[in-house]
Amino acid sequence: MGLTLAAELRRYGVATRLIEKAPERSDKSKAVVVWSRTMELMDRMGCAPAFLATGLKATVARIFFDGREWGHIGLEGVASPHPFALMLPQSETERLMAEHLGRLGGSVERGVELAGFTADPARVVAQLRLPGGREETVATQWLVGCDGAHSTVRHQLGMDFVGDTLMTDWVLADLEVPAEQARNEIEIHWHASGILAIFPITAGRIRIIADVGDTNVLQPRAEPTLADIQALIAQRGPAGLQATTAIWLAAFHINERKVADYRAGRVFLAGDAAHVHSPAGGQGMNMGMQDACNLAWKLALVCRGECAPEPLLASFSAERSEIGRQVLKATGRLTRLAVLRGGIKQDLRNRVAGVLLGLKSVRARVADTITEVAMGYPDGPLNRGGDQPRTGPAPGERAPIRAGESPVGAGGEPRFALFADPGAESGSLAVEFAGLIEPTVRAPFGSGGIWLVRPDGYVAVATRRGRGEEVAAFLRGLLA
Ligand SMILES: Cc1cc2nc3c(=O)[nH]c(=O)nc-3n(C[C@H](O)[C@H](O)[C@H](O)COP(=O)(O)OP(=O)(O)OC[C@H]3O[C@@H](n4cnc5c(N)ncnc54)[C@H](O)[C@@H]3O)c2cc1C
Repeated sequence: MGLTLAAELRRYGVATRLIEKAPERSDKSKAVVVWSRTMELMDRMGCAPAFLATGLKATVARIFFDGREWGHIGLEGVASPHPFALMLPQSETERLMAEHLGRLGGSVERGVELAGFTADPARVVAQLRLPGGREETVATQWLVGCDGAHSTVRHQLGMDFVGDTLMTDWVLADLEVPAEQARNEIEIHWHASGILAIFPITAGRIRIIADVGDTNVLQPRAEPTLADIQALIAQRGPAGLQATTAIWLAAFHINERKVADYRAGRVFLAGDAAHVHSPAGGQGMNMGMQDACNLAWKLALVCRGECAPEPLLASFSAERSEIGRQVLKATGRLTRLAVLRGGIKQDLRNRVAGVLLGLKSVRARVADTITEVAMGYPDGPLNRGGDQPRTGPAPGERAPIRAGESPVGAGGEPRFALFADPGAESGSLAVEFAGLIEPTVRAPFGSGGIWLVRPDGYVAVATRRGRGEEVAAFLRGLLA
């Protein structure tokens, strides 16, 4: 998350230091999916082409019960310029994001550890441990803890990481398979003995995830072997799938935890430091990158002196914590369904899932949810708009992305975009708020409406033509 946040802040001209205690970049694949909404945000970041050139596009997830396909979720119908799951190991995502940061003049200071900090209303003073044992004290305006599930920043803030560790053992395997056996599709196999999910990673490489039974804290399970994984595939997966090499084998447990508030004064938490959950749905890394995109434009407007700290900065936790809560709930529910035991319960689950997957509307809803294009901030504190236009997106919704239009928030300036009919009303808004709104007014999403879209592509204000004063009042409320 730190890479995304640093790149976004630098793009908007804000000086940052990104420190990382690990001396080398990790080669672990971890997250293997970049979802549509994250790709859309990368379009505005200016780094999407490198990701698209490196990843594999998977457009369908197939669901099997005891070896029989019961349904599938297609992603081609998702209303996005990127209607697919971009399969890419996290090590590559991090490499590409570090290169993007480098092109913006930033870098990762490796081998530098945050040892502690103090924060007061005026600044944050951090103690850093540098390579070779040297120490440095640095004073900064803001500190963002993108330091993972064991976050030093969270510990030092004394924030509770509320939630549970699920009492089920899981295994993970990245495998080389013969090219003809690697399909560009996600497969979820529900079997009486448990779940087995298969994700393509790169040509000839796949990721397997499976649950292997209840946790016995007195007798922890050993790390899996390739033979163990092969036996799980033979039992639950597609016939004949045979790995040639194991790249990474690991046992893991699922934690479902979240902090209540992603901010304490001048200190923020983002990514796994703020929320961890089941890998069901592959949302973790994507959510963290979107935390970063939500915070970056707000922090940039404040650091550039163009907006007051509040209410912008307060909205980060309100918006992203609610998304965290929803994703925790949804992925937790999916995980519990996946590990359900007992013939009758499994049979009922499979029948209900089979019926639901047969409905086009349900498949479309699931596709919009997992690709994260349906996520938004309908109850967000920045939303305005009393008298809604008859059509078009509501406040808090992701603004539709129209072919050929430059993404809102792209380029070097964090600017809102006004979508309205040309005329005196929209023209005078663009002039009065020239420092906050892009100079060109864009075509409205529907007749008779005015929309103000935030630099991260979500609607801030939706109102009717003639009520431009609502847009003006909202923007005046942000000014420094
Ligand atoms: C096996 C596995 C599979 C996953 N699959 C998916 C998936 O398919 N899709 C998905 O979206 N997500 C997935 N995830 C989750 C995803 O990997 C995480 O959500 C993501 O890595 C979180 O990024 P982060 O930057 O918040 O934290 P991290 O990646 O943990 O990075 C935090 C960094 O902070 C550094 N650090 C920690 N403390 C300090 C300190 N005091 N000073 C300096 N540096 C420090 C650490 O060295 C680390 O590099 C998966 C995770 C795992 C483990």
